[in-house]
Amino acid sequence: MTDTLIHNALVLTLEPGSPPLERGYVAITGSRISAVGQDGPQGLPAARERLDARGGLVLPGLVNTHCHAPMTWFRGLADDLPLETWFRDFIFPLERGWLNPDRAYWGALLAAAELIRGGVTTVADGYFYAAEVRRAFSQAGLRAVVAQGIVDLPAPGVPDPRDNLRVAEEFVESGRDFGDLITSTIFCHSAYTCGPETLKSAKALTRTRGLPFFLHLAETRQEMEEIQRRTGLRPGAYLDGLGVLDELTVAVHAVWLTEEDQDLLALRGVKVSHCPESNLKLAAGVAPVPDLLARGVTVGLGTDGAASNNNLDLWGEMNLAARLHKVWRHDPTALSAPQVLALATRQGARVLGLTDQTGALVPGKAADLIIVDLNQPHLTPLHDPYSHLVYAARARDVRQVMVGGRWLLRRGEFATLDWQEIAGQIRAGREDLAAFGRSLPRP
Ligand SMILES: [Zn+2]
Repeated sequence: MTDTLIHNALVLTLEPGSPPLERGYVAITGSRISAVGQDGPQGLPAARERLDARGGLVLPGLVNTHCHAPMTWFRGLADDLPLETWFRDFIFPLERGWLNPDRAYWGALLAAAELIRGGVTTVADGYFYAAEVRRAFSQAGLRAVVAQGIVDLPAPGVPDPRDNLRVAEEFVESGRDFGDLITSTIFCHSAYTCGPETLKSAKALTRTRGLPFFLHLAETRQEMEEIQRRTGLRPGAYLDGLGVLDELTVAVHAVWLTEEDQDLLALRGVKVSHCPESNLKLAAGVAPVPDLLARGVTVGLGTDGAASNNNLDLWGEMNLAARLHKVWRHDPTALSAPQVLALATRQGARVLGLTDQTGALVPGKAADLIIVDLNQPHLTPLHDPYSHLVYAARARDVRQVMVGGRWLLRRGEFATLDWQEIAGQIRAGREDLAAFGRSLPRP
């Protein structure tokens, strides 16, 4: 017998070629979708729990392909600064001097709450203290790819960079204890903060285990110039020479790409995480997403950390991505609403190597789904659900969130997290963080 039946909804499976299902239903057995269909003369499947989702739109949960969860602490602490100043004078000192495992854990729980509230069911995170992030996400019930962050500099939790790979490998190995929802892997911060041997070793470590490998790539013009100065090569060609580019590598940002760089990413099957809000806020630039898609590169959307965004709202990323590439190219046909919704769901799952699990509502896949409340002024009338989801909907329109058959949000209330406790911890830590911030030398 079916465990849960969600019925009487508009269902978007987001499977290519599948139309919206009026009076649709989704049946869930255990952690998986067992049936998707439309109410008709044959009646509905029997179920232990029935949810009448009248006025709701059911779709696959969103996939956030790039985040730094504990950075929720630094939201709004240092805005409107050049990237270099922002990093050198604020973010690095705060990470080294103030952050600790306990704070990373609470920051990650705050991120989990925000992600769930906004309909994200799968998130890829790369940061220091990844074991704490993993613990928080596991507790929240999210599907997550959690990566231990590496830089060849003294870092939070790894004061001696020579311990980088050992710490990362231990983190990956201990991932076996975390079940099906969590993948544990490695995130090298960038080609300018990690040396060639670190990049090669970290990539080898993940490749032999069939794990995705993340790094920031071609985010800013300064990065490009720095790599060129050091190696005589563009970042893509440099990494390719190290053997780092393949179908398991996720290049985050991918802004400063020539035609040649784009051909190289396509040839190697590299995946791209597009983070438009962060790129705009830090004035990094505009990633050539339509050109990458035309070359067959798989692209997903990411929020980046809350310090450079400043929220973890993937609806904002969809809305911006759909508009940004239009104005940048003076072409209103660039990145259509269905294309953008695919980036935030199915394509995001492909970026993370999770297409067997998530990204579409199809029998056999995990029951990772959300319900959006359509009965609201800004979503009325409904001509085209794709248009509404990309151009009009907001994170707060999400009312229900399920991951692997388990409710994480019910009628707008958290089912796995204690919001009052999280908010209390963050409020209590904020004073201390602000005092530490004030003690930093002014740039
Ligand atoms: Zn990032």
